[in-house]
Amino acid sequence: MSIKYIFITGGVVSSLGKGLTSASVAMLLENRNIKTAMLKLDPYINVDPGTMNPFQHGEVYVTDDGAETDLDLGHYYRFTNSILSKKSNATTGQIYDTVIKKERKGDYLGKTVQVIPHITDEIKKRILDCATQEKGIKVVFVEIGGTVGDIESLPFLEAIRQFRNERRKDCINIHLTYVPYLKAAGEIKTKPTQHSAQMLREIGIIPDIILCRCEKPLDNIFKEKISLFCNVDKEAVIDETDVENSIYEVPVQLQHQKLDQMICKMLNLKCGPINLTKWQKMLKSLINPKKKVTIGIVGKYLAHQDAYKSIFEALTHAGAHLNTEIEIKKFESDKIVKNQKLLNEVKNLDGYLVPGGFGPRGLLGKILTAKYAREKKIPYFGICLGMHIMAIEFARNVLKLKDANSTEMEPETADKVIAILEDQKRIEKLGGTMRLGAYQCSLNANSKAFKAYKKKSISERHRHRYEFNNKYKKLMEKKGVLFSGILKDDTLCEIMELKNHPWMLSVQFHPEFKSKPLIPHPLFIAFIEAALKKRQKK
Ligand code: GLN
Repeated sequence: MSIKYIFITGGVVSSLGKGLTSASVAMLLENRNIKTAMLKLDPYINVDPGTMNPFQHGEVYVTDDGAETDLDLGHYYRFTNSILSKKSNATTGQIYDTVIKKERKGDYLGKTVQVIPHITDEIKKRILDCATQEKGIKVVFVEIGGTVGDIESLPFLEAIRQFRNERRKDCINIHLTYVPYLKAAGEIKTKPTQHSAQMLREIGIIPDIILCRCEKPLDNIFKEKISLFCNVDKEAVIDETDVENSIYEVPVQLQHQKLDQMICKMLNLKCGPINLTKWQKMLKSLINPKKKVTIGIVGKYLAHQDAYKSIFEALTHAGAHLNTEIEIKKFESDKIVKNQKLLNEVKNLDGYLVPGGFGPRGLLGKILTAKYAREKKIPYFGICLGMHIMAIEFARNVLKLKDANSTEMEPETADKVIAILEDQKRIEKLGGTMRLGAYQCSLNANSKAFKAYKKKSISERHRHRYEFNNKYKKLMEKKGVLFSGILKDDTLCEIMELKNHPWMLSVQFHPEFKSKPLIPHPLFIAFIEAALKKRQKK
């Protein structure tokens, strides 16, 4: 049977949760034994989001093969088992880069290179590459970033129009729109949805299903209206109301409206029965937890709700697993130093997490947090930059090396505890030049890390330039640091922990990228368990 394609577009406004919706629908099909693949097409001109500020773009999600991608891939990972790779995210920048390189090579010799067909052909090629990257893929979800009507997404929409025209029976379009409730008028408004469907029609795309993001479930009259104006069956107008407690309720909500069955019918897909028992159980414990901990997150992009997306999700997964509500207190690290009140507020929580980050702003606030956690024996979890912080703090306050620092923060400092290693020094460009993607790490069997993972060899994803400088390893070991994870066949330090501390552990990699609601990450579980113990002692 030929591979089927589901295109997901967005209308009216951005931030409707297209990624979450795509992931939820894919999860339902996967649960029915249909193997899926996911592709996000991003209309911006950056080659990847790796060089964008987290305030601009939110988190950069990293795949095993080292692609720096859109955070929607994180949703795909958490909801599905689809393969995620360089073939799962393409941007306008990448598409043009490929076409221009081909042009320079002479591949189009004699021709004028144009948006149609050369750019659109390249987009279609990306869709096919994603579909054929593994055997057995039955359905490919293609999510188009941005909102219909944006100038920059036009080539993508034109490409999917052509693609669909070439495979009429194998494609459907899902259009996710916003149906606002106007409080002053006391009315629900379908006009913006009508207009965005109209705009799609002008491009030559008629949606098969319209998903309506709305505050409350839509009455039939509104569904009928949308059906009439937008050329879709009434049954295919589905509401995706704001979920009450958790984003993990979305698939259940869509399943109740039989969206998965409808898609299988439309695409003539053979499917198995659905079984959401495990998912429902997870939701139950997530929504009605019996225990509670308070975790302080000390970072500098906390004002952007998506900048640490995967970390928040990984904490949620561990919380659901341990039947524990995780109250999160966010602290802007640069404010901690200046504001004594805030400093007191930071104290006495059940655990601290210092996430990844770049640049010197806010460094001291994070170091103070690590010092406090170490001295007061409060659980501390450092991730990437959070590990650099743990190493710098230990060097400064235990080894008494007052100039200990990372060369990222102070290139000429006397004690370069964190540094760019010799063989990395040729790096000149900033895009795509970090240690990226999955690396194997060997664990010490007598460590907290091993106790969490319960295995000796692990694979985790990286995104950083600077490394722990092994020159300081022996000194730290003498004072109670255990370097419990070492890069396989190498000497690079991947995990450091304290021996005489309930749980102070940091990792050079990003465990949060590999946590799923049904398979929470072992380190996040161990961290929350330690926080629970701390709480009980209070
Ligand atoms: N800025 C640090 C580095 O590049 C840490 C990066 C991170 O936290 N992801 O090494």
